[in-house]
Amino acid sequence: MKYIEPHAHMVSRTTDDYQKLALVGCEILCEPAFWAGFDRSSAQGFYDYFRQLTEYEPRRAEKFGIKHYCWLCINPKEADDPVFAREVMSLIPDFLEKSNVLGIGEIGLNKNTRNELTIFEEHVQIAVDYDLPILIHTPHLEDKRKGTKLILDALANQKTLNRSKVIIDHVEEHTVGMVLDQGYWAGMTLYPESKCTPNRAIDILEIYGKERLWMNSACDWGVSDPLAVPKCALEMKKRGHDAQAIEQVIYQNPLEFLRQSPRFLA
Ligand SMILES: [Zn+2]
Repeated sequence: MKYIEPHAHMVSRTTDDYQKLALVGCEILCEPAFWAGFDRSSAQGFYDYFRQLTEYEPRRAEKFGIKHYCWLCINPKEADDPVFAREVMSLIPDFLEKSNVLGIGEIGLNKNTRNELTIFEEHVQIAVDYDLPILIHTPHLEDKRKGTKLILDALANQKTLNRSKVIIDHVEEHTVGMVLDQGYWAGMTLYPESKCTPNRAIDILEIYGKERLWMNSACDWGVSDPLAVPKCALEMKKRGHDAQAIEQVIYQNPLEFLRQSPRFLA
């Protein structure tokens, strides 16, 4: 099968993972800027991280025939200090020139604080100013529903936003409906210890349909599975979905969304 991994944190994965991804048919991989498993001590730390995402990682992926794209921002977990966050955000415009930068992400909320929300809104403004797509992280577990509502309210205040250029990620049963109803894309994350299992993700597809939805592994520094998307595709097959339906979810949908970025060439 050919597929797109629309959300993976390869800076914390080994080269063996790239090899496995290539073997199972991954053609394109997108890496949002996120927490690296530790808090960075300076804006310079983010400068180096942005270089890693725009210079080094695409070369590493290319060795396995995988086209690598990225998203830039300061993640919500490190964005609770607005002075520090703005220092990092001031680095972003220069990097938007790089050929593999799709847009702004993954921004969003972590603990749903007022500071996180302020920085979230400022990131959205950057995306609107540069006419770029946005990838949004929603908080986990008990904070998810409230955080998703806060995010949707903040987005609704941005009157010039094109909702079809926004994907809200890590949706679950209790948040996917409100995201799709308001005209946004939704991402389902297949993660072993939290978020969706393959069967829950397929249930969501069967209930809500296959429009404006994608699946990702969000593999990172934690216990996660870089092959979660192809494994879920196999599960779809077992549950009677035909090849065309599977390809829509794991290839055509991400392609349709990502093509809205001027940097996306596929
Ligand atoms: Zn992520």
